[in-house]
Order: sequence, then structure tokens, then C-alpha cells
Amino acid sequence: MSAIKVGVITVSDTASVDAAADRSGPTIQEIVRQRGHGCVRSTILPDDEQRITETVKNWCGENAVDWIISTGGTGFGVRDRTPEAIAPLLEREAPGIVHLLLSESLKHTPLAALSRPVAGTIGNTLVVTLPGSVKAVKENLEALFANGFIEHAIDLVRGGTGKQVHAAMGSGHHGDATHNHHHHHHHHDHRAPQPRSILSHDPSLPVYARHRVSPYPQISLEDALKMIMNEIQPLGIVSLPVTPELAGHILGEDVNAPQNVPSSKTTSVDGYALRSSDPPGIYNVLTSRTHPLTDVLPEGSIFRINTGGPLPAGTDTVIMVEDTELLSTSKDANGQDAEEKEVKTLAQVPPGDNIREPGSDVHKGDLVLQKGEVLTSLGGEVGTLAFIGRKEVKVQRKPVIAILSTGNELLDLQSPNSLASDGWGGIWDTNRPSLRAALEGMGYNVIDLGIVADDIDAHVKAIKQGLENADLLLTTGGTSMGASDLLKPVVERQFGGTVHFGRVSMKPGKPTTFASIPTPQGEYERKFMFALPGNPASALVTFYIFVVPALRKLGGWPGDRCHLPRVRVKLGDTMRLDPRVEFHRVIVKAGEEGLRATSTGGQRSSRVASLSGANGLVQLPTKREGGPDRLEAGSYANAVIIGELQM
Ligand code: AMP
Ligand code: MG
Repeated sequence: MSAIKVGVITVSDTASVDAAADRSGPTIQEIVRQRGHGCVRSTILPDDEQRITETVKNWCGENAVDWIISTGGTGFGVRDRTPEAIAPLLEREAPGIVHLLLSESLKHTPLAALSRPVAGTIGNTLVVTLPGSVKAVKENLEALFANGFIEHAIDLVRGGTGKQVHAAMGSGHHGDATHNHHHHHHHHDHRAPQPRSILSHDPSLPVYARHRVSPYPQISLEDALKMIMNEIQPLGIVSLPVTPELAGHILGEDVNAPQNVPSSKTTSVDGYALRSSDPPGIYNVLTSRTHPLTDVLPEGSIFRINTGGPLPAGTDTVIMVEDTELLSTSKDANGQDAEEKEVKTLAQVPPGDNIREPGSDVHKGDLVLQKGEVLTSLGGEVGTLAFIGRKEVKVQRKPVIAILSTGNELLDLQSPNSLASDGWGGIWDTNRPSLRAALEGMGYNVIDLGIVADDIDAHVKAIKQGLENADLLLTTGGTSMGASDLLKPVVERQFGGTVHFGRVSMKPGKPTTFASIPTPQGEYERKFMFALPGNPASALVTFYIFVVPALRKLGGWPGDRCHLPRVRVKLGDTMRLDPRVEFHRVIVKAGEEGLRATSTGGQRSSRVASLSGANGLVQLPTKREGGPDRLEAGSYANAVIIGELQM
């Protein structure tokens, strides 16, 4: 059978206002995925009977899912109404499943008797209500998935004979034998993907139907960052030639030295190889041209050698050129001095002097670089790979980024033909040049999709192009409440994308939007998109705070290195506090008393000059009620370091 399409409803007053509090919903999704099935819908609802009913009805009506799993609201609390919301919709009740769930839970706790699950079918959809706790969810799902039970049930509900699954169940292949079929995520019906929920306005509706308040909850900075890190997974491993272009990649394998470096005894100075028993005196000079390395050096001769060169057989030390005198030279055909002939050594050199032993830089078999290390653009790691002769290496794939600016008012700096506009067209597109400079400076490949007009078709075309050619889509503008702010509706309605967050409590950057979009390859493959605020300072600040960590996560950077470093700084200027977390642009200098941050001046979100010269973002704490409204010069705060430290 094909993979089961699951819809998950978290019912919780708490989680409906703070998505980060929902742990059961993600647990269900995770288990469903592990079992080789797909979560195609999910939503968080308050304990509101009507909204639960509506959601279940909608999903069943659209035939969007095979199986609806709810979690929460099944107890005896006053607000617990999930069974009441769902039971009236059930066309055929499934007391057997209720029995299974209860008997399973009772094995773990007698309190399970206080759970009031219902189960049954509505059309071709199975509905099961689970309790709200993560533990109960895990136990119940385990029972449902055991022995291929749920696959069998869904097959029957879909209208199948159940033979296939029966065979697997009956022949003693328990459970996992059936799961094996489901691990490939092939889809045979290419329905338009469906988002988890749609909150954006429908741009085709009349003016009075538009939202006047953003329907997206304003989440905290920490929750937003957590969500990004949870949703995004590394792109995967590729093999690349060892070239300077490796910079910025994460190493995907342990690298061991295949050989000793140096491979044989070499000299660390310019001079002459000889025997430690050779006393000071006059010697014939041989070179690699006049004497093979493998032959023992004849008595009375020394061997001219340059730094890094190998010693000939029979020698065990090197005398520095400074400790010798040239006595005579041989002439070439034109009578010019061509080669040294005789040299006087002024000292006797102990064995092993000025010699690098084989393997003294790198020993054969040594672990020289570790999986997960950053191949920086500082050269050390790429140099190490070259030094041991490594020609190709496994690395994490680095994301390609497509960028675009939205807005009829925007003019391209190099080809300032105004788009069809509302009449006052006249803002230089600042964000594509600034973001592109930042991205390319970090070594990323950028696809520039240009300026996109504020209409649905232009948005659809550009986003499609971005999804086809890039791993991550970066847009600016069109995220506020204006009628022409089309990004969220287009992502949700035209692409079946999910807006994970659409507002963040921060300054600048409140309308920052993070979304995922199913790709044409299948519903389970997603690409990510950041819609950054249009104001140029906001766009850059949110780029450093959100997009850089996302790019690093995609590129397989270790978790603790995804975010730009935060350091403690002493404020050189007094800074005003805001009810939101504020990122104040600063210049951080290293002085005798540590790091000191001075403001770059006006911090309005349109003033991109606040980032000109800035190498840090001081993260100002929120202004508390009754608390101080400023952080005085001389006090300390944390700053995100976005550029090179200054002196
Ligand atoms: P929006 O989110 O589209 O409403 O944009 C917010 C503000 O930022 C408006 O004043 C826009 O004109 C301005 N803006 C949007 N995109 C850009 C851009 N690429 N360069 C400069 N300003 C922009
Ligand atoms: Mg705009």
C-alpha cells in the first residue's frame, strides 16, 4: 500500500498561543515519519469544540488525509471537549480501537481510566483521539502500529480488501515486514500539496475582507530561532575536489594522512648534507645533478641541499651554509661561474642537526582533520588537505540561495526602468545588492531573481524559478500588512507552503517570515524561504540573526556553531530600550579593557547606514514596565559579532 497521509491536530489552549509548547504534535509527526508515512497536515487548536469539529470536517471533506490523529482534550477537565467535537461526526464508530488504546494505557497507569477516547471513520478517513501527554501518545501509537494493525485498518478504510496486509500479518512477519514497503517516499497521486493551515488573507477578496491585524502570532526571538533549527536539516554529503572553493564547507569525513610528511629525512635549512663524523675541512661539493640520492655519499664530499630537500644515503646531518666558505667554482663553456666545486666547513655538526625526521610534520595514519570541522576561508584546513596530497574529499553540500526584492516602487541601480507603479516609483533597490554582498562574502552562490512586481503572477513565477534552482529562497519586502503584501498568501495558497512564523517580537525585523514549501519532487521534500522585511536595515539585521544560522544548518555546520558568536561588550553610548528585543548596530573595538561597542547613530529601520561600518549588533534587553528606559554608557550587554573585530 502507499504511504498513509496523516493529519495531526493538537488540542491545547496553551499550545494554541505558544506553538513551542506543543510537544505531542511533533512527537506524533516524528513517529509517523519513522514508520514511513507522511504528515501532510498539522494544526494547533485551542480547546474549542466548534473549531475542532470544523477542522476535522474540512480535512475529511477535502479527502486530504487517510488518518486524523488528535492529541489532547480527552480528559475530565472542564475545557476537555475533543470527544464531544468529534463523536457526532463519526459515521462508523470503532470501539475496538478505543478498547485497544485504553487497555494499552491502563498497563502503564490506572489514571488512564480518566481518558475518554473516541475512534471511528468519516468517509475514507480514520479518526483517533489520543490523550495530550507525550508519554501516552508514544504508548498509544506503539500499540496502533504494532503488527501492521494501522496499515491494515487504513487499507480497509480506503476500500481495499486488506489482503496484502493480512498476508504479511498472518505469515508471521510481524509489523516491520510491512513497514519496509513504506520507507521510500514515492507518491503516485500528485495532488496539489496542502499546507498545514492557511492564515494569510485571500488577495482576491474585496478590500473590507482584508485582515486589519496580522493573524500570525508574534513569537519570541528564541522560539523563532528554535523553530528554524528544528525545521531545517542538512542538505547532505557530496564529494568535491580539493580546491580553494572548498572554503565554507563542513568536512563530511575524518581525514587521515596517507603518508609520512616529510616522506624521508629532509633538511630544514639551506646548506650541505654530510656525516656527523666529518671534521671541519675542505670538501668536494656534489648536488642532485651530480649524485643520485640513493648512492652513499663518497668520503671527502658534501651534498648541497636546500630547505625541504631530502638527504642522500650515508649522511646523517646538515651544516648550514652560514657555517661554510666557498673556495672554488667550476666554469661553464662561456667561462662563467656555474657550480660550487670546493667548500670549507667551519664546524663539525652533531648527528640529526637541521633535519626533519620522516613523519615529523604529519605521521602516516594521523587524523589530520575531523568530520564536522569547518573548512574556513582562512586557509588552514584547505592547506592541510593539500599538504597531505588529498585530491578529493567528502563535504556537506552548501546551499545555493535565490534572492529577490518585491515592490513596485523599486528601481534597479544598474537598469533603473521603473516597473508599472502607483506613480511615485523611486526607491533604489538596496536589499539585493546588500544581501548579495553579504552572501557572496561568506562564499555562497547566489541566484539573483531581480525585482518582482507586487502582483500574484510575478510572485508565482519568481518563487517557482527560485525553488527550481536554489536550496533557499530569500525575499525582501511584502511582509507587512499592506494590500500589496503578497508573499504569505502566495506561499500558502499558490504553493501549499507552510508559514512557520510570520511575526517576531524584535526590533527591527517584526514582520520576518519563515516558511517551507513542498517541492515538485513530492510533498515530503521541502525547501525553505525567508521573507525578510523590506526596510534595508531590517533586512540586513534579520539576515544575520536568522538567515545565516539557517544557511549553516543546511550546510551541515555543527549546532553550536550555526549562530554568529555573541560576546560581552561595554557600551560606549547610552542606548534606549524598547518593549521588544532590539538589535542596536555598533562598532565593536578591542581595547585594553576588553571589547567596547559604540553606536552607529540613528537606528531607524530604513537607515541602512546604521550598518555601514558596523561589525556588531548589541542585543538590548526589553524595557520592563516600571524599569529603566535606557541602558547607560559604561554598562554591559551582549553583542552578536557580524564582522571583523576592530582595534
Ligand atoms: P514592505 O514590507 O514591502 O511594505 O516594505 C517596507 C518598506 O521597505 C517600504 O518603505 C519599502 O519601500 C521599503 N523597501 C522594500 N524593499 C526594499 C528594497 N529592496 N530596497 C529598499 N527599500 C525597500
Ligand atoms: Mg512592498
